[in-house]
Amino acid sequence: MSHGTGAGSSGRMICWFNYEPPRNRIQKSTVQVIHGGVNLTDEMTPEEKAELISIGSAAIDPELLPPALKTTATAGPGAGGTSFFIRSGTRRVRLSVNPNSPLRVVKEGDGVAVLRNGVVIAHGILERPLCHCPRQAYITISERCIFNCRFCPVPKLQGSVKDIPTVLRMVEETAASGELEAISLTSGVAESPYRETERMVEVVRALSCRYDLPIGVSIYPTWRSSEDLYSAGAAEVKYNVETMDTRIFSQVCPALEHPFILSSLKKAVKIFGKDHVATNIILGLGEDDACVREGVTELASMGVIPILRPVAASPLRQGEITIRRPDPDRLLRLARMSREIFTTFGLRPDRAKTMCLLCTGCDITPFRDV
Ligand code: SF4
Repeated sequence: MSHGTGAGSSGRMICWFNYEPPRNRIQKSTVQVIHGGVNLTDEMTPEEKAELISIGSAAIDPELLPPALKTTATAGPGAGGTSFFIRSGTRRVRLSVNPNSPLRVVKEGDGVAVLRNGVVIAHGILERPLCHCPRQAYITISERCIFNCRFCPVPKLQGSVKDIPTVLRMVEETAASGELEAISLTSGVAESPYRETERMVEVVRALSCRYDLPIGVSIYPTWRSSEDLYSAGAAEVKYNVETMDTRIFSQVCPALEHPFILSSLKKAVKIFGKDHVATNIILGLGEDDACVREGVTELASMGVIPILRPVAASPLRQGEITIRRPDPDRLLRLARMSREIFTTFGLRPDRAKTMCLLCTGCDITPFRDV
C-alpha cells in the first residue's frame, strides 16, 4: 500500500506528509535545491538515513522530549531503552536516547536538526509514537522469554504478560488519537511456543472483532500458528530467522530451530500471501555479504520479505556476544541488493500493512527508502 495516506480507525483519511520546513533553519553543508516551491534538501536522503541508522542513537535535550514523544521498547534487542522518532519527508528514523552518542539532536525552528561533530547531517520533525511506534499500536504480549538468544535482553528483563483487557485498553487509547493504521503484536515465549501461540490467537480474535484494521503478529512459530492466527483475523506474520548463517545461528540462538523457522515461513506465504510474511535477518553478527545475498534470495524465492536489521548492543548482554553494527555503506549496499532481488521475485515491502515494514524506523527498507 502507499504510505502517503491511510485510513485511521475512524475511517478519516490522514495526511502523512504535511511537514512544513521550519523557518530559521540551521543550514546543511549542501547546496539548497528548490523545485516546484519545495526545498528538496529538506527531505532526508537514503544516505543520511543510513548514517543515522548506522549509529542508531542520539543525545537529545530532555526538554525536547516530553513523554508523548518518546517510547520504551519492551521486546527485541532494544528492550528496556528509550527511543524517539524523526520524520523527514517520506522517511522515518528511530533513535535511542544516548547522551554519549556522536549524534546530537537540537531544536531548529518547529523541527529538529541532527548534528555530528557540529555539522548538520539531517533535518526533520519529532514524530509522536502511538504505542511503540507512530501510526501503530505495536504491543508486546509476553515481555519475558524462556529462550536465551545472545543478542536479546528480554530473557534478562523477565517482564510481565499482558492479559486481553490490558491489550484492549491499550489499543482503545491509541485508536482515540485518530491516527491508528495498524495493530501489531509481538511476544517473547513465556512458557512454551504452543502456549504463546494460543495466547496470541486469543488476543487477535478479541481485537479483530472490534477493529477493522490490519493485524500483524511476530512470534516464534509452531506447527499451526499460521493457520490459527489467520483464522483468528491476523493479516500478516513475521517469524524471525535472525541470521541465514547457520553456524552463527547455532551459537547465538542455541534453543531455536532454523529449518523449522524456514519451513514455517514457507507455509505462512501459502496462507497470508506474498508481501505479507516477513522475517528479520540481523546484520552485524559476523555474517558476510555473500551469505546475506544468498539468504535474501532464498527467502525472497519463497515469497518471504527479509528485513535487514542492524544489530543493537544491549548492556545486559555485554561480554556474551561480539557484534558489529553495519556502517552506512553496507546498509545501503545490502538494501539496494535486496531491492533488486525483490524485483526479480515480484515482492513489494511497501505493500505490507503492519509491523516494521509499515514503520521502517529501524531499517533501510527497499521500495520505501531506496
Ligand atoms: S521498525 Fe519495527 S522495531 Fe523499529 S521502531 Fe518500527 S516497529 Fe519498532
